[in-house]
Amino acid sequence: MDCFETLIGRLAAERNLSDSELAFLIENDSAAEPLFAAADRVRRSIYGDEVYLRGLIEFTNYCKNNCYYCGIRAGNPNAVRYRLSQEEILACCEEGYSLGFRTFVLQGGEDPFFTDDRLCNVISAIRKRFSDCAITLSVGEKPKESYQAYFQAGANRYLLRHETADDAHYKKLHPGSMSPENRKRCLFNLKAIGFQVGSGFMVGSPGQTTENLVCDLRFLQQLRPDMIGIGPYLNHAQTPFAGSPDGSLWQTLRLISLLRLMFPYALIPATTALGTISPEGRELGLKAGANVVMPNLSPVGVRKLYDLYENKICTGEEAAQCRDCLARRVLKAGYRVVTAVGDVKKEPEKNH
Ligand code: SAH
Repeated sequence: MDCFETLIGRLAAERNLSDSELAFLIENDSAAEPLFAAADRVRRSIYGDEVYLRGLIEFTNYCKNNCYYCGIRAGNPNAVRYRLSQEEILACCEEGYSLGFRTFVLQGGEDPFFTDDRLCNVISAIRKRFSDCAITLSVGEKPKESYQAYFQAGANRYLLRHETADDAHYKKLHPGSMSPENRKRCLFNLKAIGFQVGSGFMVGSPGQTTENLVCDLRFLQQLRPDMIGIGPYLNHAQTPFAGSPDGSLWQTLRLISLLRLMFPYALIPATTALGTISPEGRELGLKAGANVVMPNLSPVGVRKLYDLYENKICTGEEAAQCRDCLARRVLKAGYRVVTAVGDVKKEPEKNH
């Protein structure tokens, strides 16, 4: 135990450790409790007990890509496809606003129907109607000019998980038409444009090693994102990885704590995947250092169709129920949901 305490103390002070020390904490179940305690201290010193809400609108499940782990990949002929109209998206925002959401996350597959013009129209309409809200996009890899257009239309945040920072592992998870270089380039482009940028990775994706996870942490040190989303890999029967074991709840939690200690100011969600792998997953995620939750605002009729992985939770409830359920869970975990845009807090310059 002593040895964990010393390592974790150094990590909290220096925000860094050697590769082998990080690997040790990633692999070792006994590191969990001291890691959670240290991460919670850091999160409370910066964000107090506040938890920010993001209203997730899954607006299309059409996708031109074929990521081998994902249930809505183009190559899944059984996926029932849908896309929301601009009016439907605005209705989700309307409902979300009245429930206290001040951030809307538009997430979808890479759907060619949503040309830059169409997406910019949606963004400007939301921006006009909800001037006090943040608009977050999560629509994959695009040319820099497209990102620029979205930003000009009024979007201010972008989520694009790098998925895995190791090139060889990336190639095992994706077809040859996709490249780790392009995904990383997109992230740096988004930053240069001025978006608050979120990246992240799956924990326990098929073939992933501890070294791959260390590589993910190193990449995040280079990128310095404002938001970091991670969740366990979860099986989907209609993918080439069908039957691969799910990622581990506890390893994901330890990684959330490591992220909080390495990136004290980051916005880190307790993700739906975490809530799917365990009924208490999101509460545990918050206690491990997460400070964001993302209740679902998509119309109930389409929720089941945004089928990235099996047994996804929160597909049957109305937005209000989802919000209230999460607010209760947050309270139970010892924190408090707030009605706020919830921008990333910036570290005072003098320290680092
Ligand atoms: N098209 C967008 C949104 C992708 S879906 C984009 O490319 O960014 C959002 C996230 O869900 C992905 O980044 C991936 O990390 C996660 N995801 C997809 N399939 C998953 C699975 N089987 N298990 C766990 N997470 C998965």
